[in-house]
Formats: sequence, structure tokens, C-alpha cells
Amino acid sequence: MKKIAIIGAGPGGLASAMLLTAKGYDVHVYEKHSVVGGRNAKLKLGDYQFDVGPTFFSMPHILEELFQAAGRNLHDYMDLVELDPMYDLIFEDQQVTMYRDPERMTSELSQQFPGSEEGYHRFMNETRKRMNALMPMLQNRHHRLIDYVRPRTLKALPHLALGKSLYDVLSQYFDDERLKLAFTFQAKYLGMSPWECPGAFSILSYMEHEYGVFHPIGGVNQISEAMAKVIEEYGGHIHLDRGVSRLMTNGKNVTGLQLEDGEVVEADEVIVNADFAQAMDQLVDQTALKKYKSENLEKKKYSCSTFMMYLGIDGEINLPHHSIIFSDDYKKNVEEITKSLDLSDDPSIYVHNASITDPTLAPKGKTALYVLAPVPNNFSEIDWDEEKETFRDLVLDVLKDKGGITITEDQIEEEKILTPKGWEQDYNVYRGATFNLGHQLSQMMYFRPHNRFNELNHCWIVGGGTHPGSGLPTILESARITANWLAETEEVKQA
Ligand SMILES: Cc1cc2nc3c(=O)[nH]c(=O)nc-3n(C[C@H](O)[C@H](O)[C@H](O)COP(=O)(O)OP(=O)(O)OC[C@H]3O[C@@H](n4cnc5c(N)ncnc54)[C@H](O)[C@@H]3O)c2cc1C
Repeated sequence: MKKIAIIGAGPGGLASAMLLTAKGYDVHVYEKHSVVGGRNAKLKLGDYQFDVGPTFFSMPHILEELFQAAGRNLHDYMDLVELDPMYDLIFEDQQVTMYRDPERMTSELSQQFPGSEEGYHRFMNETRKRMNALMPMLQNRHHRLIDYVRPRTLKALPHLALGKSLYDVLSQYFDDERLKLAFTFQAKYLGMSPWECPGAFSILSYMEHEYGVFHPIGGVNQISEAMAKVIEEYGGHIHLDRGVSRLMTNGKNVTGLQLEDGEVVEADEVIVNADFAQAMDQLVDQTALKKYKSENLEKKKYSCSTFMMYLGIDGEINLPHHSIIFSDDYKKNVEEITKSLDLSDDPSIYVHNASITDPTLAPKGKTALYVLAPVPNNFSEIDWDEEKETFRDLVLDVLKDKGGITITEDQIEEEKILTPKGWEQDYNVYRGATFNLGHQLSQMMYFRPHNRFNELNHCWIVGGGTHPGSGLPTILESARITANWLAETEEVKQA
């Protein structure tokens, strides 16, 4: 079988490697870090364990299907716990608990927002139809404009809510500002503003309410670790601490990789899982590129970034597994992050207190706390070396003043801070835009880099930078599209 080289052992690279090793290909994954997972890796600090990035895992059936396609049962590899309540939302004047169970959700709404129950049920019913119409678009390849005049696509087009933002769409269901935010803050999963994010993404909050939110024991990183196990069981190779310095090309044909230590690896096909824009900017001979050469990449739209705090705390923290603490003026905060590119003095924060569900993450009586504040990406002028400590203290103040959680300095046994600068330098994320190329419709589907890369031959893309986009369920779909397409192309050649 042919040799496939994959740049990056993020969830996208690993999922495509798992599917291809199961089909018998000779797969080699090259990863610059010493652990698998990329943004979905495990982070160990002393006796504490954290997820580097993803903490919300929804639609586990997609991962189950991927494991089945690779001849494995997901549940032999991980223990998944459903979280219901899913999360708490903390506003200036009110705290709301969000449930997957429709009865508990309805009861919460009737107590806190009397009269809003009808809007919630209408939202669920109508978004179910939207999801059913859009799912085939998310699961299929988009490489020809002609496909957009096919009946299936034409039927789905009204569900794209063209011309409407996510906020506009949710305003059709709820009057209360806090409820609109409760069903639109998920735009942050794409690093976007609800006022700009396409209305079609109302499927994000729907997905949580319909399919639930899950926690794999050991952390969401277990998804990447489980896929790495399957790859190795099939005899695939994951080469850790082996960064790639360039894509070897002969004209438009990719012939292999050069590693940072100078070694050249020949391959029949190359799959790029490394952050798309960073890879095009840094690893590819610019004369081979057109639309995605460096000068054009700079003009594209990108997601926001995140300021991360991973804290090993001596003591228990009285917060649920997931909480979101909203800025008093959320719209202003979102505009600071996505438009004016300023560092907010009243940030919204997300707090992940997973050790409350999962005792494997911290010693008894202690807490592994992950705090994330969305911030501008590195198109801003923010000097993170200068701002890091002040912003850290501000985040701890928000936690104290709005979340009611006081953490004293001597309780902090372990601490790591990751800024947008760190995302760019340590994780090779273009301009620190942690959720990749933006998800404006002008950069989605046909207009996003194609899974079979259209600027180079024998080159494929997987992960958040290609279709269907960022977020674990979509990244897993990208792997399914890319791996199946690659295998199909080989079968056609052999026939
Ligand atoms: C803070 C944060 C929170 C998130 N939360 C969620 C969430 O709750 N739920 C959700 O569904 N999604 C979430 N996401 C989005 C998304 O699911 C993750 O970012 C996901 O890990 C992206 O996967 P990927 O395969 O596209 O890329 P990555 O995980 O970035 O993997 C790319 C890999 O390529 C490697 N690499 C890069 N350059 C090279 C090179 N030159 N040579 C060799 N290797 C290289 C990197 O080290 C990395 O391992 C979150 C993302 C972030 C950053």
C-alpha cells in the first residue's frame, strides 16, 4: 500500500491516520511536540492534569462511527460521562443552569424567564430541521461550484439563513437578552461574534441541547490518545518530536517532507493537519501557491485567540464542571475581541472545573482549574510579555467578584499561562487565531481550503482549517471526508 505522511498529530491528523491505517496504508504521522493531540493534548503540571484546548465534547456518535469504520469500539478506549446539567451561565444579575433534558430545561426557563418556554421548544423543533438539511452539506466534499445547483444543496440553501447573523436568528425565539446570549455564546467556539457569525450556526447550541455534552474520564484529550492507540495497534507510525520544516515539491507535485533535523521523507501522499495558514506560510514554497500564498493569507479573516490559565489549586472549588461568566457589556467585550482588537478591562471568562466530575485530574481535596478568556488574535498590537501578569490578575478578580471564587496565591501549587503569542510560537497557530480561519460564509464550504488541496497535487488538508471547519465534531468529519476521498482516488487509479 502507498505511503502517507501526515504533518501533525492533532485530532484531525490522528483521525485521518486511524482511518487510513485501518485500510492498510503505510501511515507516518510527524508531530513537533513530544505528545499527541496538538490543541487537544493532555497537559500535566505536577500532580494535576488539564486539557490544553477542547473541553466541550458533543455529538459523540460521530467519533463512535469513526471508530467503527476503523474496526474498533470507541467505548473499549474511553469512559464517557454525560454532563446534565450541561453548564452554568453567570450574568451580572442572574445565574442560569442549562440542561439537555427538555423537562428540566423547561422548568428552569419557567422559573427564571417565565413565558420563554415556547421559544425554546420552537427553537429546538425548527433547528432540528435546519440541522437535518445542513448535515449533508457538512459531511460532503465541496470542490465544485456546480454542486451548488444540485437539488440537495438547493434544498439546504434556505437553512443557511443567508443575510442573518446568529444573534438575528435567536432573536426570533427569545426577547430576553440573557437568553439570546445563552443560545448564541457558542459562536465563541468558532472564535466569532454572535452579531457576525452566520445564522446557520444556530446548530451549535442546538447540538448541545439535542446530543448533550460529554466528558471522557481523563479529559477530552482522551479522544486523541485513543485514536493514537488504534493507529499503533494497526502498525501505523507516530513520530513524536519530529517537526516538519518544509513540504517537498516538484512543481505542483508534493513528493514528501523535510524534517527539522534535515531528514527527507518521501511519500506518495501528504496530509497537512498543522494549522492551515501557518503551514502554507511557513512550510510551502511560495512560488507553488496562488490563493493561499503568504501575502493573500494575511487578507483572510481569522478567529479570535484565547488567554489560558491552567491552575493546580490546593482546595476544592465550588463551581460546576463548565461555567461561563459574562462581561457586564457582552457586546462591547465581543467587539473588543473581534473588531477594535483591544484588551478588555471586563473580560468574559469560561471556567472548566473538570476535577469535580473526574477524580483522575487532581489529588483528593485539590482542583485542576482551567480558565479561558477570549482575546484578540495577533493581528492586534498587544504586547503579551508586558500585559500577561496584569491580565492574569484581572481574570482572577473576575473569578472572585462575579464567580464568587477566591483563590489565594499560596493555594496555587501549579500554574501555566498560555497567551496568543504562545499559541503562535509553541503551537504553530497562525497569528494565534486559535479557532482557525474565520467561519464567515465567504470562507466556508467551497470557499474554504478544500480537503483535497486544489493548489498542489498529492496534498490533502485535515483539521479546523479545511471543510467543514473548527470544533471537534467538524474536525472529525474533515478527517472522514479527507481519508475516504484519498482512498477512493487510489481505488479509481487501481481500477
Ligand atoms: C483553547 C481552545 C478551546 C477549544 N475548545 C473546544 C471545545 O470545547 N470543543 C470543540 O469541539 N473544539 C474546541 N476547540 C477547537 C478544536 O477542536 C481544537 O482546536 C482542535 O484541537 C483542533 O484540531 P486540529 O486537528 O485542527 O489541529 P491541532 O490540534 O492544532 O493539531 C495540529 C498539530 O500539528 C502539529 N504541527 C504544527 N506544525 C507542525 C510542524 N511543522 N511539524 C510537525 N507538527 C506540526 C501541532 O503541534 C499539532 O499537534 C478549542 C480550541 C482551543 C484552542
